[in-house]
Amino acid sequence: MIYDVDKETMPREELEALQLKRLVNVCQRVYANVKHYTKKFDEAGITPLDIKSLDDLKRLPFTEKQDLRDNFPYGLFAVPKENIVRIHASSGTTGKATVVGYTKRDVDNWADMMARCLSMAGVERRDLIHNAYGYGLFTGGLGAHYGAERLGATIIPASGGATRRQIQLMKDFGSTVLCSTPSYALYLNETSQEMGMDMKDMALRIGVFGAEPWTEEMRQEIESKLNIDALNIYGLSEIMGPGVAMECAVAKSGMHIQEDHMLPEIIDPVTGEQLPPGSVGELVITTLTKEGIPLIRYRTRDITSLDYVPCACGRTHVKMQRIFGRSDDMLIIRGVNVFPSQIESLIVETEGVSPHYQIVVSRENNLDMLEVLVELSEEGFSDEVRTLQSLSNRLQKGIKEFLGVTAKIRLVEPKSIARSEGKAIRVIDNRKKQA
Ligand code: AMP
Ligand code: ZN
Repeated sequence: MIYDVDKETMPREELEALQLKRLVNVCQRVYANVKHYTKKFDEAGITPLDIKSLDDLKRLPFTEKQDLRDNFPYGLFAVPKENIVRIHASSGTTGKATVVGYTKRDVDNWADMMARCLSMAGVERRDLIHNAYGYGLFTGGLGAHYGAERLGATIIPASGGATRRQIQLMKDFGSTVLCSTPSYALYLNETSQEMGMDMKDMALRIGVFGAEPWTEEMRQEIESKLNIDALNIYGLSEIMGPGVAMECAVAKSGMHIQEDHMLPEIIDPVTGEQLPPGSVGELVITTLTKEGIPLIRYRTRDITSLDYVPCACGRTHVKMQRIFGRSDDMLIIRGVNVFPSQIESLIVETEGVSPHYQIVVSRENNLDMLEVLVELSEEGFSDEVRTLQSLSNRLQKGIKEFLGVTAKIRLVEPKSIARSEGKAIRVIDNRKKQA
């Protein structure tokens, strides 16, 4: 079902006219109310009234995470503080937390957008949603919560933690939808088996997974283990939280960006040049309706591409491909660019190992060393040394062929890599400490 047919299936021409009107409006608001933007626009020699077409977007200054930090905590807010009804802060995985504020209308729009997303995934009013995204400063929990209520489904605010209890709740309540990070979904499944249960036998039918990168291979793994439709949801706190983009269950091939509320573009992360449709590059988003902290050309650092081909589901909003990696997550190993997702694809396709892994990078004698910790599955663990050796060789060969770098493979015992209730930690780069 399409939650908001008018907006989600708007013909492109009409949609672009709406985007232009809203773009001029948001620029006027930040230019008048946020010192940082007045200065940036003046420096770029542009005023909001100079914006005559969407093409003028590329003349506007970028906003970076650092700008939020420099204006910590409220410097980029565009409305008086009494109009802010909610504060969230990003997880701060890559530095000091960034703070965002929402007006009543922002919270309302967000709920609408999340309701659209759940609907896109195939969730209906009769569904029971087990929400294992963390409640708190992190946007995941409350974002999904408000969206579920807006849709009229039943939400179970489980939040993160107490994994065994979560399994019991899901079983007892008959939850039909799971919202969590993809890595936590796998952890839940593993724990359910320890408890003598199987998530396959539960009422679950849909998973809405996001907040961290995952691969197509991981999707297949989760779908077959949990016997559900696993769909991808994307968001970031600076722009709103979860629900910036969502994959439709009909096509399952990329996430529709809520284009009436945000204007996406793809740039070359090095030169900052805007790239033509279809190119792979860094996603940049301008918020079109946000009041609390509107952002102009925010550099997400997420690497993807945009697909404007009409979707089978009938929605006209552009689709972004699965996030390939983050420009600041890209590892350079002896000059070769390596994304953790490439290694994940190989691991998940390999038999005898679990989908839990960790990548450790270090420097020995001025040379980059790549080590991949791969967890054996219970079956793999009982194999003979010879079998294990050949497994490790196969993984090493795969990485060499696929990525062109030599990795040391360390097979570790089942369940020895730390599990996370939120975003999994996939990369440990010791070179930064050594430098
Ligand atoms: P936060 O603001 O703390 O919620 O983190 C947002 C970041 O999480 C994004 O910029 C992405 O790097 C990552 N992220 C969120 N959703 C996804 C997704 N579906 N796939 C890959 N990465 C994601
Ligand atoms: Zn679609």
